[in-house]
Amino acid sequence: MDIIVQKYGGTSMADAMCIKNVAKKVVAAKQDGFNVAVVVSAPAGVTDYLVNKAKEITDRPHGRELDMILSTGEQISISLLAMAIEDLGENAISFTSAQVGIYTDNNHNNAKIEAIDTSKIEDAFNKSKIVIIAGFQGVTKKLEITTLGRGGSDTSAVALGVALGAKEVEIYTDVEGVYTADPRMVPNAHKIDFISFDEMLEMAGSGAKVLHLRSVELAAKSKLPIHLRSSFNDKIGTYVIEENNLMEQVLVRGVAHTTNNAKITISNFINSSKNVAYIFNEIANRNINVDVITQNYFNNDKITVSFTVSEEDYERTLLIANKLGETVGAESVFGKTKIAKVSIIGVGMKSTAGIASRVFDCLAKNGIHIEMVSTSDINITCIINEEQCQEAVLAIHLEFNL
Ligand code: ADP
Ligand code: ASP
Ligand code: MG
Repeated sequence: MDIIVQKYGGTSMADAMCIKNVAKKVVAAKQDGFNVAVVVSAPAGVTDYLVNKAKEITDRPHGRELDMILSTGEQISISLLAMAIEDLGENAISFTSAQVGIYTDNNHNNAKIEAIDTSKIEDAFNKSKIVIIAGFQGVTKKLEITTLGRGGSDTSAVALGVALGAKEVEIYTDVEGVYTADPRMVPNAHKIDFISFDEMLEMAGSGAKVLHLRSVELAAKSKLPIHLRSSFNDKIGTYVIEENNLMEQVLVRGVAHTTNNAKITISNFINSSKNVAYIFNEIANRNINVDVITQNYFNNDKITVSFTVSEEDYERTLLIANKLGETVGAESVFGKTKIAKVSIIGVGMKSTAGIASRVFDCLAKNGIHIEMVSTSDINITCIINEEQCQEAVLAIHLEFNL
């Protein structure tokens, strides 16, 4: 019997009506002849509620204890869905990650899956049961509870799909697929039928939170197709698959954006690669994620580096940057919040020149100042002011006829 893994996100599990709707979809897949493993997220808003509960107690909750509380959200969903399925006359069993054996490293709040024991799931399949598994959570070899980072249930689903040798992973959510831009920001964005793993990696990495980045990395590595679709209708959604010749050749597949970034500049210090390496090592040692980096030389002796971090990390990064600036003899260190990142993505860029200049022209025509740029062969990312983010996304969407 073929195995299918389905994943339902928070909005799909929001209340009793939604859960009963999910149960019907799961039962339909079982009755179509599949062994079905279902991964679920906490009901919409529950994880945020739990984060806030922790923050009422302390600003800096201990990673282990935060995981202890965060992992409970998904447990609500697994039991309710199992009940709803049993109510429809099929056998179901719910499992936490610890019960299955979804093993992770011990990096609390952002753990990586290292191994999955599939024996319990396979035993349940042999008894004709539908298996419901809590997403987002894992367990270390020492049985410490971990979580995979916000949005991590997608990654749980794909990892299970790989481990179980599933035919595909269906990710059910509150939109009908991957769109040319976030449909909440661009009302006339349209659904993409097929998108390559590489493009989806860039979209997810650039802020399209419709899929958790690591879920796409895992699917790409195993060439496991993801079908991203709506849990509120039966329409075909978007297939995330390997690039092939039949894929519609477009220059630009989509635009992604993130807000809540900050930019820090350390200016005019002695031009030495040792200094640059020292700065970024010191920042990395404090577990701060640096995103876009640019370096400028005003003359051969002096160098200026700018980089972006999340707004959440801004205060402490600026503090460190000031100290590092002193050590390397920088002229000044300054920072700025309310920075947005707008990324233009498409495999067509590999073979076509002039896309970057079109992007710069388009933003200039709309009076949008670009602060930093970074590129890969299928991605052009511009750092701009947050208040112009929507304007920039809309203008680029129009410029490339998306
Ligand atoms: P779930 O709870 O089901 O995991 P998420 O909220 O994590 O759902 O992801 C779905 C959301 O992703 C959509 O509601 C949409 O606003 C957002 N999104 C951002 N970029 C895109 C995009 N390019 N295509 C589709 N949705 C996107
Ligand atoms: N419930 C978790 C979150 O809100 C995981 C997920 O939804 O994928 O981040
Ligand atoms: Mg999600």
